[in-house]
Amino acid sequence: MEKICVAVRVRPPISQENPSGSFWKVEDNRISLHKLHGSPIPALSYAFDHVFDEDCSNSDVYELLTKDIIHAAVDGFNGTAFAYGQTSSGKTFTMNGSSSDPGIIHRAVNDLFQKINTISDREFLIRISYMEIYNEEINDLFAVENHKLQIHESLERGIFVAGLREEIVNTAEQVMKLLESGEVNRHFGETNMNVRSSRSHTIFRLVIESKGKDTGSSDDYSSSDAIRVSVLNLVDLAGSERIAKTGAGGVRLKEGKYINKSLMALGTVINKLSDGAKQRAHIPYRDSKLTRILQPALGGNAKTSIICTVAPEEIHIEETKGTLLFASRAK
Ligand code: ADP
Ligand code: MG
Repeated sequence: MEKICVAVRVRPPISQENPSGSFWKVEDNRISLHKLHGSPIPALSYAFDHVFDEDCSNSDVYELLTKDIIHAAVDGFNGTAFAYGQTSSGKTFTMNGSSSDPGIIHRAVNDLFQKINTISDREFLIRISYMEIYNEEINDLFAVENHKLQIHESLERGIFVAGLREEIVNTAEQVMKLLESGEVNRHFGETNMNVRSSRSHTIFRLVIESKGKDTGSSDDYSSSDAIRVSVLNLVDLAGSERIAKTGAGGVRLKEGKYINKSLMALGTVINKLSDGAKQRAHIPYRDSKLTRILQPALGGNAKTSIICTVAPEEIHIEETKGTLLFASRAK
């Protein structure tokens, strides 16, 4: 089983929330709480595969955390990259980026097409889909009319979302255009955390299929003739904040419960997968739609990375601790 790569990223302070800078100190691959009451608290110090401080770019994150997954996917291995964290901690910034610093998705797509263009002896077919899970309902972000989609399983296709639109794509530009159109359909809600928070999980999926080109030689069957299919998921999770903090009631409360349910299921699945000692333990993929959909690209020889984004400000200390705990359990 491949090790799950776990990283933490601290976003820059947002000034009006935070006159006094970060409460977290990043040194190499370690993050520690250092400003509380002016003295370091040794117990609150965690090490991960990578810790990115506020000066790191999406390019740094891509190179260290995601690139290998994309390259392995071209070679036929499944992979999943997640962004986990409370609302406003930088998940979407990491996945989607800005015009001056494109995010993981953009970089992955560019890299993918660049890479397959260098492989002359195989033919590639790339299909993409884009879905959200909102209150345990699966909606198609490429086709608004496709909502409440069901998960099915068949011998031929494995686990799949029935009715989900797949687009065949030939260039990175085409992918980015489709994603932009899908973005409009994402579910957003206002909470009194005073930010436009995302209440749904979004999964951008690439299916990479390739087969050896007919070279005209009459060689017997060789492995390069075999069809390879790999699935790559790039996942922007819903905000991990606890319900109480957002002062939620009614609809928001219901959303919070579903979000917590699937994030908890994800935490359990990842925890069990990374717990090498109990490799044969039952993995509860069926506990949420999120884990069920991702099942084929989690565990086994799939490559997985998680970037846990945290906010540096004092008011977010409790949520940051929660995120670091989630990250520690995933190691
Ligand atoms: P989330 O998706 O976790 O709710 P966002 O990605 O929307 O959070 O980030 C919240 C705000 O902080 C946005 O305005 C975003 O542009 C900014 N931001 C987040 N991370 C960074 C970063 N590493 N560098 C610069 N700005 C960032
Ligand atoms: Mg977001």
